[in-house]
Amino acid sequence: MCVSSPLRNAPLHTAEILCVGNELLFGDVINTNAAYLSTQLTAMGIAVTRHTVVGDTPHALQTALADAFSGVNRPAADLVILTGGLGPTYDDLTKETVAAYFGREMYCHEASLAAIKAYFEKSGRIMSPNNQKQAMMPSGAIVLPNANGTAPGLAIGNDTNTAVLLPGPPFEMKPMFETCVIPLLRPYCDRVLVSHNLHLMGIGESDAEYRLRELMTSQNPTLAPYCGMGEVRLRITAEAQNQDTAEALCQEMADKIRASSVGEYIYGIDIPNPETALIAALKHLGLTLGTAESCTGGLMGARITAISGASAVFMGGLMTYCNQVKIKALGISPDTIEAVTEVSGEVAKQMADGARAALGCDVAISATGYAGPSGGTEENPVGTVYVGISTPKVTTAIRLYFPRKSRSYIREAVCSRAFLATLDILREQGYPLPS
Ligand code: ATP
Repeated sequence: MCVSSPLRNAPLHTAEILCVGNELLFGDVINTNAAYLSTQLTAMGIAVTRHTVVGDTPHALQTALADAFSGVNRPAADLVILTGGLGPTYDDLTKETVAAYFGREMYCHEASLAAIKAYFEKSGRIMSPNNQKQAMMPSGAIVLPNANGTAPGLAIGNDTNTAVLLPGPPFEMKPMFETCVIPLLRPYCDRVLVSHNLHLMGIGESDAEYRLRELMTSQNPTLAPYCGMGEVRLRITAEAQNQDTAEALCQEMADKIRASSVGEYIYGIDIPNPETALIAALKHLGLTLGTAESCTGGLMGARITAISGASAVFMGGLMTYCNQVKIKALGISPDTIEAVTEVSGEVAKQMADGARAALGCDVAISATGYAGPSGGTEENPVGTVYVGISTPKVTTAIRLYFPRKSRSYIREAVCSRAFLATLDILREQGYPLPS
């Protein structure tokens, strides 16, 4: 059970996330805690203003904490959430450093000690004397029990500055945040932040930004562009005292964007990836889909089938890596391969037509190209991929080129671009896509 008692005297508006651990600085561990906590805090209406990572040195931690609360070169944070350094070893110094910052003594929290002993007994392991350190708490802290490990968390502070300390391992940190920290912070949240993403295709990030330059200066809601694989995302974020007002502010901004010269490039709102948009569109149109893949080796099919509900539209895919299989399974003309090679628009088109015929689907997408790092020709260097799209009305091919990109990047980007291009072609052919 989490202890509940007054935490502070002021609302929570801003937070910084301070992650502790040499392993994060070495790059051995990716800082997923910061991303998770940012999402959670934003959803609670607390604006995250900075992520900081420090190594396992008290001085670095002390400085980062003081800078966050006093607002050195940025707005002062109401809340700092720290993760890591709550373990039993000599370099786990987060609690002691934070206690010193707030001028608190450490004491043994008997309930935590009992919980740690019980945790070891239950797991049949010997408790080392080091683990007793994990029951030491700064005086006045609210202790947050750890249901999935030995290190309890804690919340501490004064009227206006609050620090929350959580264990480093995500499988301990997340449940502690959800069961203990959210209920603890909720009474101090007096506003909501709402974000929505408009997805654009067929326009570059800088062009979109230029066309929307006046809306980009808006303070509430804010508008920010992000560049994805073959698409541009416009994130609208509104702040208000309640959900309805924030939603209305976002809607107003979305309407202005739709009415602008960028509006025609919008293909969806709050879509996790292009394949989700494609499946939704095909479902809406009552069309089925199939794939014929060479350089993507089944990745298109894998990404499509990763979407729940894909079976409503996806008939299947043919993985035709070598030319004999392209010829046999898709009916590609050997003469065409001889004349223009298998990495060509003509073969991509024949692959897409072949897949439509072989799979009996309405729309088929193909990909053939050089994902590298070796191979390629002068005309079609590594990174060149042809995507074929066959629909009941037309068969077309597009040439994609991703210079200086890794094999895995190229394969993923080809899938994203192919799905978006298919949507584009359906729209061009007058299919009424869902708005
Ligand atoms: P422990 O009792 O396990 O030592 P701790 O609170 O001291 O817990 P750390 O020792 O700092 O935590 O980190 C333990 C492990 O948790 C790291 O090796 C890493 O795998 C993971 N971890 C720590 N911080 C992060 C982070 N910011 N993002 C993702 N994983 C993390």
